[in-house]
Amino acid sequence: MATCPGCALLCDDIEVIVENNRIKETKNACRRGAARIKGCINRLEPKIAQKPSDIESAVRKAAEILGNAKSPMLFGWSNSTCEAQVKGIQLAKKLGAIIDDTSSFCQGLLIEKLLQKKFRTCTLEEVRNKADVLVYWGSDAQDSEPRHLSRFSYFPRGESRQRGYEEDRIAIAIDVRESNTAKICKGHFYRIQPKGDREFILALIDALSGKVPAYEPKKILELASILKKAEYGVIFAGIGLTYSIKDDFDILVALADKIPNFHIMPMVGHYNMRGFNENLFKETGFVNRVKFDGKVVHDNRYSIVEALREKSIDALLVAGSDPLSSLPRSLVRHLASIRVICIDPCVTMTSKIATVTIPCAVSGVESGGTAVRMDGKIIELSKIIESDYPTDEELLSRLMGAL
Ligand code: SF4
Repeated sequence: MATCPGCALLCDDIEVIVENNRIKETKNACRRGAARIKGCINRLEPKIAQKPSDIESAVRKAAEILGNAKSPMLFGWSNSTCEAQVKGIQLAKKLGAIIDDTSSFCQGLLIEKLLQKKFRTCTLEEVRNKADVLVYWGSDAQDSEPRHLSRFSYFPRGESRQRGYEEDRIAIAIDVRESNTAKICKGHFYRIQPKGDREFILALIDALSGKVPAYEPKKILELASILKKAEYGVIFAGIGLTYSIKDDFDILVALADKIPNFHIMPMVGHYNMRGFNENLFKETGFVNRVKFDGKVVHDNRYSIVEALREKSIDALLVAGSDPLSSLPRSLVRHLASIRVICIDPCVTMTSKIATVTIPCAVSGVESGGTAVRMDGKIIELSKIIESDYPTDEELLSRLMGAL
């Protein structure tokens, strides 16, 4: 069995049929996972200043750029193995650099609260075996983590939920639009206004406290009654919710306190974003936005968004991410004026503007390693086919050696 690195569910039940060291077919993977396992459409090539090079020369050039930079940043990591992430953190320490990842503009703060044990959480196996009320809040799992409902939450039989979705489970969607997940939740879809999550939570807390909520009382009282009766409930918190409530996670903690049978799980997209958060947290006590400046400094200005807005970095190493495809154009403009090094198996929008590109093996396909599932479980990635490409971990080691 192989593990799919297509999203943070890290499905480890994938059968892969290989012929002549080529992936012919996958079984059990969703469409997104199957495409991911089949690999890149365009393979990245080693280049310096857009001219063909070789991996060794590209690594030496990357070391020269980072070594000469006054304010380098190492960014990405959500699609890298834990082993590569740890190397990246060591490299940042050696350089006295800033290190950040994609969680700094999505689920980072929620994961930080989780690692600080500010609310109850659970594993996906506990969801499958025990959960009777599932709340998808600002999360369209059906599109983002396509096997979430079928492997773990709504559809499967579990030890205490033998009749699955037919009788034993209720799935609820709270969202600004009727997503594909909301369509499955049928009679339990609660539409809210964009950025209306805070108001909705406050009304729900009122209803759970025995007060008549000021906002949509009929709907909120009905929902509060379902939540109160739950034996084992889970709120799957998506970025729709976390973007909407911004930094006010105390309000979510206050809601969780009102429903003691509930657990909160951040819905993580990239396959190893949580791994990076846990690895950096172990080293520094923070999940992202860190500068190694003789000591550990954590500050909002060390997020990629602020660093680009303030034009405060002069070199950027990107590994396991494609910031150009996800950040606003006004921010990424600064990348054109600094030196960018891109380590990735595939051509990406970021690699197209990079000064140095270094190809690596596809983790979970051409190389093994470990990653952390969205619920915190460590999952092994296996090597499916042979490849001459070095792993991202190996490249980062070579880069450190060349400094
Ligand atoms: S749900 Fe995610 S991990 Fe599972 S097969 Fe699909 S993309 Fe891969």
